[in-house]
Amino acid sequence: MSVAPRIARVAIPSPLARHFDYLLPPEGPVPLAGMRVRVPFGRQDVVGVVLGTAMDSDLPREKLKYIRRLLDVEPLLPPKLMELLAWASAYYRYPIGEVMSTALPVLLRRGLPVTAAGAKRYALTDAAHLLAPEVFKRSPLQQRLVRALTEHSEGLGAAALAEVAENWRDAMKRLVTRGYVRISEEPCLPVRPAGQHLAPQLTVAQEESGAVIQAVAGKFACLLLLGVTGSGKTEVYLRAIGEVIARGGQVLVLVPEIGLTPQLVTRFEGRLNAPVAVLHSGLNENERLCAWQTARTGQAAVVIGTRSAVYTPMPNLALIIIDEEHDASFKQQDGFRYHARDVAIKRARLENFPVLLGSATPALESLHNAQQGRYQLLSLPERTGAAQPPRVALLDLKRLKLNEGISPPLIEALQERLQRKEQSLLFLNRRGFAPVLMCHDCGWLAPCKRCDARLTIHQRSHKLRCHHCGAEEQLTTACPACGSSKLHGIGEGTERIETALMRLFPQARIERIDRDSTRRKGSLEEKLRRVHAGEADILVGTQMLAKGHDFPNLTLVGVLNADQGLYSADFRSEERLVQQLVQVAGRAGRAGKPGEVLIQTFHPDNPAFAALAHHDYREFANYALAERQAAHYPPFAHLALLRAESPKPDAALAFLRAAHGHAEVLVAAEVVQLMDPVPSPMERRAGRYRAQLLVQAGARKALHDFLSAWLLQLENEKLGRKVRWSLDVDPLEMY
Ligand code: ADP
Ligand code: ZN
Ligand code: ZN
Repeated sequence: MSVAPRIARVAIPSPLARHFDYLLPPEGPVPLAGMRVRVPFGRQDVVGVVLGTAMDSDLPREKLKYIRRLLDVEPLLPPKLMELLAWASAYYRYPIGEVMSTALPVLLRRGLPVTAAGAKRYALTDAAHLLAPEVFKRSPLQQRLVRALTEHSEGLGAAALAEVAENWRDAMKRLVTRGYVRISEEPCLPVRPAGQHLAPQLTVAQEESGAVIQAVAGKFACLLLLGVTGSGKTEVYLRAIGEVIARGGQVLVLVPEIGLTPQLVTRFEGRLNAPVAVLHSGLNENERLCAWQTARTGQAAVVIGTRSAVYTPMPNLALIIIDEEHDASFKQQDGFRYHARDVAIKRARLENFPVLLGSATPALESLHNAQQGRYQLLSLPERTGAAQPPRVALLDLKRLKLNEGISPPLIEALQERLQRKEQSLLFLNRRGFAPVLMCHDCGWLAPCKRCDARLTIHQRSHKLRCHHCGAEEQLTTACPACGSSKLHGIGEGTERIETALMRLFPQARIERIDRDSTRRKGSLEEKLRRVHAGEADILVGTQMLAKGHDFPNLTLVGVLNADQGLYSADFRSEERLVQQLVQVAGRAGRAGKPGEVLIQTFHPDNPAFAALAHHDYREFANYALAERQAAHYPPFAHLALLRAESPKPDAALAFLRAAHGHAEVLVAAEVVQLMDPVPSPMERRAGRYRAQLLVQAGARKALHDFLSAWLLQLENEKLGRKVRWSLDVDPLEMY
């Protein structure tokens, strides 16, 4: 006879990197791994996830507390997903409780039941339809609601009712109690007419890629689809998805944060004859739970989501696709610093299915893996149909006189497009009016009080803003140092370019697209709609415009400040620059009309630009990989970055020096190399002084063995209590 386990091991969101033991009540069901429990924790009552059960704890029994309540009747996170989360916690050195809670929608973290309900809809009952309106005479509010509902026999949702009357809820409650209104719930997966669009005849290259993907179905494989912009990668995805769902499988599609546009979702829905769930940051908590639940129950055949969707439970998951796999938004930059692409590959390996990475500009790591044979390389070398690669020309700024940031050849090219009624796009990665406010009499530069940075001028809102900490000040008209009124903005931002264009081309319709101009909900959609409808001639924007958009009538792309990113402290900055430029250049000439890309630069000889002009990302990649190898950087080495910050000037560096000292006795310098602790490139941000220590190792295992031993020491290091510190495994941003 077996004896029931008496202990549950529970993951609880807490900075402590371990699980906690609790007693199980002698009666009642034994919880399974992946179920939630409510437990006492300190003076609080918290929700945790059961990791497993055991007969005994290492702690004496009298120290243990009982579980208060079991919250689920079945595991919310299936065993393989639990295994993935445990791996991620160990690999990224982040507490298991926090990691588990990342995988759950917020409402479930709070202990709410998993029964997800769609939004409520209110409709009149048959009884109410038969009544004369006079019945509600004594309550004008009820009368108004009944009148509105009479006009909408299909019922109204909360948002519509709030339009009818702001304080509708109490009156509605009374109508429900009296039997005049019934409540129904919208399904979590809206029923839409699906699959009404036909797939195009695939090109030979698309067919070949599709065949390889089909051949690896049902087993682990990592495929890298390298397709130039406009080569039809999405069509390859759609075909692969179609095959998986025809066999009853589910597909997870991960896209970059700004890649998840309504257009993309519509394109998928329009083509797939299957329910699609979408997980993104714009959802409210209820919608998120709803979508998550359709994935977990297998109702949703396809889940499209951003980074954190990689942890969505999907019982029939058979393929993960990562679009624009090089995109930095797949890496979480604070807290649990995981990389969704790498986690996805691990997940595919654990659950034994293929993963497909797609990009026109793969990360050098991924390309290297393909060259080493670890990934299988698929390629789409040409644009589909009549579309030709755009002509790329470099404009040497050393020889050109700029008119508010725009050179004469670019102005001429814009003029031509206006005459031909074609669209143009001007790209620069700086929002606001100008990056610096300077006094022409004394040289004063408007600084951020909390960062080692300058404030950006936002002319429209008459503000000076720090793009690093968000601090805001009124735009001054007099220099605080000398009182002079000769204050001028130096350099260009999207606002200034927009203003310049209005002056240069008064007849043109200009659309600015950046984080400032699209803050209001729905405004990005509206702007994109105008561009698609041909209601805009010139687009000015930041990287928000660089990716994914397909504007058939756009034939000119101008890059205003290409040099930002060259010669920077971060060894990845050049890779990022080329990726961004290839992506933005890819917006030109997507349909039959030839495209042209004009790049303004002070360094036309930089090899990064040559590769762009030859449309050969691999040419750039080969040279960049050789540099990485020589410098002993990823993918030829593995990195971890220990960061620390404190409001006190020297505390962070002091802690890192101590950490450096601990490391020296732990490991031989041939195996793991530690750089000297240094202040971060922008040392002070939001009032905190920041410093970092880079760890480098030739082998991943050596790095992780070292980190395990080192972290034990760091947790006991007294200086560590005076600072905020964190470890970033496989860091992407080096500052
Ligand atoms: P990518 O994802 O590589 O940028 P898309 O899949 O968006 O490319 O395709 C670019 C354009 O080409 C889209 O308008 C798409 O409808 C079209 N397209 C893709 N494949 C084909 C094909 N085989 N035949 C005709 N048009 C295609
Ligand atoms: Zn001054
Ligand atoms: Zn600041």
